[in-house]
Amino acid sequence: MKKIKLKSIILPIMLFIFSLSAFLFSKYSTKSIENISYTQFKSKLNNKKISTVYIINSSKIRFKLLNGQLYETDNPGTDSFKENLLNKNITVLENYPLSNMEKYSSSILILSTMWITLIYLKSSKFKTKKSLSVDSMDAIALENPDFTFKNMAGNEEAKESVQDVVDFLINPEKYKSYGARIPRGIILYGDPGTGKTLLAKAVAGEAKVPFYAMSGSDFVQVYVGVGASRIRQLFKKARNNKKGKCIIFIDEIDAIGKKRENGAASGSDERDQTLNALLTEMSGFNENNNIVVMAATNRLDTLDPALLRPGRFDRHIEITLPDICAREKIINLHLKNKPAGDIDIHTWSEKTAYFSGAKIESLINEAAIIACKENSPKIEDIHIDRAFSIILAGYEKKNRDYIKDIDKNITAYHEIGHAIVSLKMLPEEKVSKVTIIPSTKGAGGYTLSIPEDRLYQNKNYLIKKMMVLLGGRAAEEIIFGKDYITTGAHNDLKKCTNIAYNMIARYGMGDTIGLLSIEELSSLNINQDNIIDECKKLVNTIYKKTKSLIINNRNLLEVKSNLLIKNETLFEKDLK
Ligand code: ADP
Ligand code: ZN
Repeated sequence: MKKIKLKSIILPIMLFIFSLSAFLFSKYSTKSIENISYTQFKSKLNNKKISTVYIINSSKIRFKLLNGQLYETDNPGTDSFKENLLNKNITVLENYPLSNMEKYSSSILILSTMWITLIYLKSSKFKTKKSLSVDSMDAIALENPDFTFKNMAGNEEAKESVQDVVDFLINPEKYKSYGARIPRGIILYGDPGTGKTLLAKAVAGEAKVPFYAMSGSDFVQVYVGVGASRIRQLFKKARNNKKGKCIIFIDEIDAIGKKRENGAASGSDERDQTLNALLTEMSGFNENNNIVVMAATNRLDTLDPALLRPGRFDRHIEITLPDICAREKIINLHLKNKPAGDIDIHTWSEKTAYFSGAKIESLINEAAIIACKENSPKIEDIHIDRAFSIILAGYEKKNRDYIKDIDKNITAYHEIGHAIVSLKMLPEEKVSKVTIIPSTKGAGGYTLSIPEDRLYQNKNYLIKKMMVLLGGRAAEEIIFGKDYITTGAHNDLKKCTNIAYNMIARYGMGDTIGLLSIEELSSLNINQDNIIDECKKLVNTIYKKTKSLIINNRNLLEVKSNLLIKNETLFEKDLK
């Protein structure tokens, strides 16, 4: 903001100073008229050399000699001065006639200053306007029907989640005839390089609609209002595209949609304006706008809730790091158009644990470069091997590719612990997926079970649920020993505590306060510290039960954990 103001002001100021000095210079120094003493003037007067006298003001007079030379001298200021001169036949003028040049120079200067300033302002306005427009950035509609889901390996669940958007864009009338509304905004979240951009592009390709991509940071400008105006122009462009439907993709949406700190105005009006412009544009969609906005972020939880409300970005799709299976597909995909030798793809997919798609892509690319440098006819394992060391050295420090095998083992036993307790205690709940691939939510791995939809949960169920939650820690303790339990159970314990406390303090399922409710007791200022004691006892009892359940199934735990270490993700069928 400051930059542009300074820039636009400096030139006019400089022009002004320049013209002012030029003006003063011309007035007072170019026309330097020789000053002579009054006595010299008198002698010239007596010698009848003077033709005209100009009385410029009360202190100075000028006079012109017969030969045309000009001089200046002091005005004697006597009353008879003018009369004396007139008597000597000298023309006396009460002012000094300026030459045309002198007369107009000041106005010319002022006018030209104004003119130049105007031109400058106009051109600078033009410039800002240009940088305001989306055209100056590359929000060109990309249309690439060949780029489809095939270009993205793995993330099958994510692809499934956007399939209906593709269908809608292909045939909006059909959905409209059912009165269905297209999802307006979709947020793709997940680690960098997992293929969020890829998925959005593939949706556009599958549906054969134009794809407009911009990054959130393109909207964050030092100039107030530019971001908002860019948003409006982007949407205008999108609305006016020939097909009447399209995908708008905004990468790094957090640049404009980050949660406000402490709820207070963060002082970034610019960002708020941009965010508001985006929300306004989205809520302005009507039935005839077949525009789907897809946005990407690394973390969903940092986004402003206003962005996530219904009718805005109300569909959230996690894009995860690829598991071993997906990595194999990604390696295959990126080797497809390259001269690949007899590469042991399966081994590479094993070695690239915790690699993102982007990193696998760069691994293969690096290998291709190495092979090319060596003039090797094909890309071979040795090239990938060398590329692997290069890539790892580059990434080594900052991330978790190097999660030690021991950590992988712990995660596997922990997750299978959950899964076994769930299968045994709550067989009606499906364990649909167990994985040791970390999710963006911060867990080292996770077990996904689908709870039965029930209106009420009984005491028996809650206890079993707590057993499932404690299953992870129990498995760790049984396999690795009491002294080697980890922090990995942190979240499980939190949830477990919550259930235990609610049972005893709110659901009337405990002894300490019996059927009393903690909410009422605390509103009456009655303290019930001993509730904690009962919660502790309850959880400890349940933990013992959980441990003995797992001990009884130790063999199963070993087998499935090893399978999980190998495959990284297990599905329902693998657990049966
Ligand atoms: P993000 O938007 O999540 O940061 P991108 O979509 O930009 O990631 O992915 C960067 C590159 O990584 C892609 O161009 C592609 O080459 C590669 N890539 C990432 N994920 C995959 C995947 N699932 N399948 C194939 N290639 C992938
Ligand atoms: Zn756990």
